[in-house]
Amino acid sequence: MDLYEHQGKELFRQAGIPVSEGRLATSPAEAREAAEALGGPVVVKAQVLTGGRGKAGGIKLAAGPDEAEARAEEILGLDIRGHVVRKLWIERASDIEKEYYLSLTFDRSAKRALYMFTTQGGVEIEQVAEESPDALVRLHVDPLEGFRPWQARRLVYGGGVTDPSEQKQIAAIVERLYDAFVRFDAMLCEINPLIVTPDGEVKALDSKFTVDDNALYRHPQIAEMRDVAADDPLESLAREKQVTYVKLDGEVGVLGNGAGLTMSTVDVVTFAGGRPANFCDLGGGGDAQGVVDALSVITRDPQVKAIFFNIFGGITRCDEVARGILQALSEMSLELPIVVRLDGTNAEEGRRILAEAAPPNLSVSPTMLEAAKRAVELAA
Ligand code: GDP
Ligand code: MN
Repeated sequence: MDLYEHQGKELFRQAGIPVSEGRLATSPAEAREAAEALGGPVVVKAQVLTGGRGKAGGIKLAAGPDEAEARAEEILGLDIRGHVVRKLWIERASDIEKEYYLSLTFDRSAKRALYMFTTQGGVEIEQVAEESPDALVRLHVDPLEGFRPWQARRLVYGGGVTDPSEQKQIAAIVERLYDAFVRFDAMLCEINPLIVTPDGEVKALDSKFTVDDNALYRHPQIAEMRDVAADDPLESLAREKQVTYVKLDGEVGVLGNGAGLTMSTVDVVTFAGGRPANFCDLGGGGDAQGVVDALSVITRDPQVKAIFFNIFGGITRCDEVARGILQALSEMSLELPIVVRLDGTNAEEGRRILAEAAPPNLSVSPTMLEAAKRAVELAA
């Protein structure tokens, strides 16, 4: 789950990472009030779950309440890379002398958390990595050892920070970032920019914070932060029905039992020249309610032109799944063509059940490749 900047900053604050004081606003009038309460110049920041807000005109300085109201008027309703701005974070403006970059992310290939630090902050990190890779210091953390103070020193010295006060402050932030990462079960904590003010104070001016969805159950405070209105409507429907669903761009709806089989199904659809519309894993069972739930999510996507239902019966028997499919289809009206591949335990019995009673829009193929080809044809 991705957090908004202001939510990430709240977690930073709780972890002892310095951030500026700010208030939320959802209207120009509230932005004015926030600026009045904060006093002095403020920065009006669009709260959207995407980066590059500055370049898109979503971040503007305001000298006081009048300007804050005017800037809020301009930014609210703005579309930033497909995200409409509904909330603003009004923050006490900072003077910036330097912009650095610090992040901690979960590196899946190394199975470790990875620190990245560079004094060339403010711009996209991918650009730094490409144009001046030497300026980017990378350092993994051993999960059993945890954070060690030498790691902060290596990042800070390696990045070329020479001022002793800056070194000390950044080292403290590096350590607290690891605390925050572990404590809140993060997948990513990024500070870009990490600024140094003319007074020599170091603080987090931005926050990108991603929390592991699978750990949300132990963080009710964070789970509550989810902004249902900003979620993809299909993915929230799926979450509600406890269906594992990821939206993709194509036309062939994919449904499988088990994550591995479903991923292979996505691959085989592509291999057959089609484009998968989604990834949807039914899980181990094949009961009618599960099938109804999954099909109702998949078919809600108007791009879907055909469905490929790929079942391998292991513990679940194919005849049970076949009955589940028939019952599901009798409970819902489904006009799209659906191709079923059944294999595994009791596959013949399952295919016979479907062949006898299936509606005309359902066809059965014995192999995965044949079924994929057929579904791709039907979706064309
Ligand atoms: P992003 O564009 O979505 O990454 O949003 P950021 O929060 O990183 O802000 C983008 C840029 O706006 C920063 O790199 C700063 O240059 C500028 N900015 C943000 N807050 C302030 C502030 O308080 N004072 C000043 N002077 N500039 C700011
Ligand atoms: Mn930023």
